[in-house]
Amino acid sequence: MKQFVINQPILDELTKKGIAIRQVFDAHKIFSVNIMASPGAGKTSVILRTIESFKNIYNIAVIEGDVIELDVERVRNLGVPVVLAHTGGSCHLDSIMMEQALKQLNLEDIDIIIVENVGNLICPANFYLGTHRNIVIASVPEGDDKPCKYPGMFKGADIVLLNKCDYLDHEAFELEYFEKGIRQLQENIRILPLSAKTGEGFDKWIAWLTNSYDRYIKSFTIDTS
Ligand code: MG
Ligand code: ZN
Repeated sequence: MKQFVINQPILDELTKKGIAIRQVFDAHKIFSVNIMASPGAGKTSVILRTIESFKNIYNIAVIEGDVIELDVERVRNLGVPVVLAHTGGSCHLDSIMMEQALKQLNLEDIDIIIVENVGNLICPANFYLGTHRNIVIASVPEGDDKPCKYPGMFKGADIVLLNKCDYLDHEAFELEYFEKGIRQLQENIRILPLSAKTGEGFDKWIAWLTNSYDRYIKSFTIDTS
């Protein structure tokens, strides 16, 4: 309790900064997504495949929450702008790190920003980055109990991607149990099995992202009828 009281003003400052970042996004009509998952769920692989499907249609930029340039290089090889949001070893991204990263991007030329958060299913959910959608990626080899173990993360998701679905036939993973764990938290949320390796399910994910982007852009149109 004591610690909560001490930390509260700091959290508020970070949330305020997150709100300011959202205003910057909206001023530039940049749609942004925050990708969260545990280490090894395949965040970067999903991002790379998403960029391949998208980069000729939209101007995409990526913010990598990390301490080293490894994933940054993988994205850069696809020819899209990418910056490292240096976490200094922290277990989550916060709005200060986001602000620093955004300074390195030319916001005039971007339609969509993809943020790869730090691999962690706990605290990234507690830090508002100003992004428009929370994408949570789980993966089959991690097991079907993740939604039950990390409810905070799944409760805040706008969509859940179940990566490595090509393993479904080989692992003791009960899709129904996994989905039930999520639906207990959010009844109507979209849950999409996909595979960044084979491309299975990506058409639905890309359609969801495209629809979300279109709705975002339409929200700026004033209805004069
Ligand atoms: Mg990664
Ligand atoms: Zn953390």
